[in-house]
Amino acid sequence: MFRVAIRAMSSSVKEFDYLVIGGGSGGIASARRAREFNVSVGLVESGRLGGTCVNVGCVPKKVMYNCSLHAEFIRDHADYGFDVTLNKFDWKVIKKSRDEYIKRLNGLYESGLSGSKVELIRGKAAFDEEGNVVVDGQKYRGKKTLIAVGGYPTIPDIPGAEHGIDSDGFFELEDLPSKTVVVGAGYIAVELAGMLANLGSDTHLVIRYDKVLRNFEKMLSDELTAAIEEESNPLTLHKRTLVTSVEKHENGLLTVTTNTGVIENVKTLIWAIGRTPHTKSLNLDKVGVKTTDSGYIVVDEYQNTSNPDILSVGDDTGKFELTPVAIAAGRRLSHRLFNGETENRLKYENIATVVFSHPLLGTVGLTEEEAVKRYGKDEVTLYKSRFNPMYYAVTKHKEKQAMKIVCVGKEERVVGVHIFGFAADEMLQGFAVAVQMGATKAQFDATVAIHPTSAEELVTMR
Ligand code: FAD
Ligand code: NDP
Repeated sequence: MFRVAIRAMSSSVKEFDYLVIGGGSGGIASARRAREFNVSVGLVESGRLGGTCVNVGCVPKKVMYNCSLHAEFIRDHADYGFDVTLNKFDWKVIKKSRDEYIKRLNGLYESGLSGSKVELIRGKAAFDEEGNVVVDGQKYRGKKTLIAVGGYPTIPDIPGAEHGIDSDGFFELEDLPSKTVVVGAGYIAVELAGMLANLGSDTHLVIRYDKVLRNFEKMLSDELTAAIEEESNPLTLHKRTLVTSVEKHENGLLTVTTNTGVIENVKTLIWAIGRTPHTKSLNLDKVGVKTTDSGYIVVDEYQNTSNPDILSVGDDTGKFELTPVAIAAGRRLSHRLFNGETENRLKYENIATVVFSHPLLGTVGLTEEEAVKRYGKDEVTLYKSRFNPMYYAVTKHKEKQAMKIVCVGKEERVVGVHIFGFAADEMLQGFAVAVQMGATKAQFDATVAIHPTSAEELVTMR
């Protein structure tokens, strides 16, 4: 009798108007917005609610970035007249409060979903031949199904790679490593390396080419690389270096061998060489959803996949792997699918982003190179500035600030704003609004400056 009941339940298919796979930034945002249009919504999540951003991404990263800022301020305290003795930094303290904060956020996401009446299904989803979504043997079906499964860190295929950790592992560290090697030249590598170095780990950043953030606006990439190479920067940069093998010794320490030399006594090795979409185990071939060779889901500008009833947003589509992008694409999609807004979609342009490196940087719109390519060299006007921010006027430790505004046409429409250094994070959002609105350089200039700030430079450049 009991067995029959189980079979009956597992062979039945539970239907929703909208079935979302993935409870991260994109999935949760889209699911909750869809509920506002009174459709039935189920959401499948195999891990912790909130996905990468909340659990092993933006949020714990920013807590650690804030933590490392204290180290920078302590460095400058004496120059500002404070006689402070630093006894020690206790990583365990910040880890504990960070973990508690994230637990609270997990709870808030869960109560947010139940408050919106999104049915939460715990488990790992995969498609079957009939197009159902199967979770722990139970079948589900959505009239429309959203895939928002994000990705996971990529580990290279070299001998001993398993002795390293990734950014997920960084958030599990119980202590500040005495010596760290970070491999990679993108967002995660420069952010984690910068934090660890400033907190006091002997940190080595290993990059394949000559510069970090090679795909960013050249000025930003040049400035950050140069700043890391400054003697006063606690980070050691290894250029044109490839790790060839990793060996673990009985005392737990690692030897990291590269084409340019050997790094000994390494406590922690962190791979930060990019991410892989979580699409392999979904059985996408069974439902005709096409992926690229690297596993990213192919979508059109409306987030449609090659199956008309299946959509995708966020990191698994490989476009601007940022939380606000996944959220915006997911919400707009729900408006389009369930509120008759047939043209509503995220246009992937003028997306502002900040890298929380040391020093940090922010960018929105076109790089100089992109503007020249799109509009022609004669149509592009550049405004540049490089100066010492006032904060460092009285400190021994110095950091530069650099800015670039990219304009096009006779009217000098601002199509790119790039900021390196002090307070770039909080400076950029407002300028992103201006770029999005199509502001011209003359309108920037007509805005009265706020003095004394670094931001005033952006409205006074000549
Ligand atoms: P995710 O948030 O990854 O969510 C996907 C969810 O799907 C996960 O919860 C996963 O468990 C679940 N899932 C996967 N497969 C299945 C399955 N088969 N069945 C059920 N569930 C499944 N972005 C910023 O904007 N600012 C930052 O400062 C920033 N910092 C970052 C720092 C780090 C270290 C990292 C790694 C990323 C950072 N990002 C940042 C990027 C940001 O975290 C991602 O762009 C964002 O989380 C993508 O959201 P998503 O919904 O596409 O995927
Ligand atoms: P990224 O793609 O940003 O950077 C990875 C870099 O590693 C590549 O650009 C490449 O640089 C280098 N690399 C690739 N393969 C190898 C290899 N085999 N050996 C050595 N180096 C290699 O990926 P991340 O993992 O840093 O971050 C993933 C995404 O998460 C980011 O693109 C970003 O969208 C998001 N993110 C956003 C943050 C924010 O908003 N502040 C913070 C963190 C992540 P090169 O070719 O120059 O060697």
